[in-house]
Amino acid sequence: MEFFILDSKLFDDRDFAYGEQVDQKTAEPEKKDICSACGVAMGPRKWLSPRRVKLSKPSYGDVVHGSFSKFLVSSRFKELYEKSGLQGINRFDSVEIAKVLRKKVSSPEPPDYFQVQVDHGETLMIPERSPGFIFTRKPSCSACRIGTIATYDGIFLDPDTWDGKHIFIPNGLPGTIAVTEEFLAFLNESQLTNMVFEPAISYKAPWSRNRASK
Ligand SMILES: [Zn+2]
Repeated sequence: MEFFILDSKLFDDRDFAYGEQVDQKTAEPEKKDICSACGVAMGPRKWLSPRRVKLSKPSYGDVVHGSFSKFLVSSRFKELYEKSGLQGINRFDSVEIAKVLRKKVSSPEPPDYFQVQVDHGETLMIPERSPGFIFTRKPSCSACRIGTIATYDGIFLDPDTWDGKHIFIPNGLPGTIAVTEEFLAFLNESQLTNMVFEPAISYKAPWSRNRASK
C-alpha cells in the first residue's frame, strides 16, 4: 500500500485564504499528545475555546492552513467525512471566524470551520529506509521514537505496521500528517478543496526545501 503526506501550504493564499489565531489562549498538551512511556509532548499545547481565527481573504477552501497545528475544515468537509467511514480524525473543535481580511460588502460569508484532531497512528516511520534521513539527535524512547530530525528527502512508512487509520500522525514523525489512498479517493469524490499531498517516499523535509530555494 502507498502512503501520502499532507503538504501544508501554511501562508500560501493564492487560491484560498490561510488562517491565524486571534487572541489565542492555550493550555498544556492533551493527554493523547503526551507519550505515556517517556512523558515527552508529541503534539502542541491545547488551543482553548473560544478559538478565534482571522482569514487572509474572502476565498474559502474546504481546508484552511496557517499558523495553527493541523488545519481547519469546513462544515461540508466535516459532514462528508463523518459519513465516509474513514478513521483517524478523532475530534472536530469549532472555531469562530473573527475577521476576514480584504472582505467587501459583496464578498461571500465564510462557512463554519472546525479544527481537526488527528490520531497518533501505530504506523512506523522507518528512518533507515527513508531516503536521505539524518537525525541531529536519535530517539531514545522506543514508544514515541521522537528524535530531532536534521533533514530527509523522503519518508518510508512501514505498511506492515499500519493500524487501519486513513489519516494519522506516523509514529516517529510528530507534526506530520499521513493519509492512505482511500483518503485521497474520498477527497476526490467529494471534490473537497485545498489539500495537497505528496507520495511519502518523495516528500522532502519542508524546511530543507525552503533553504534550497533561497
Ligand atoms: Zn516517548
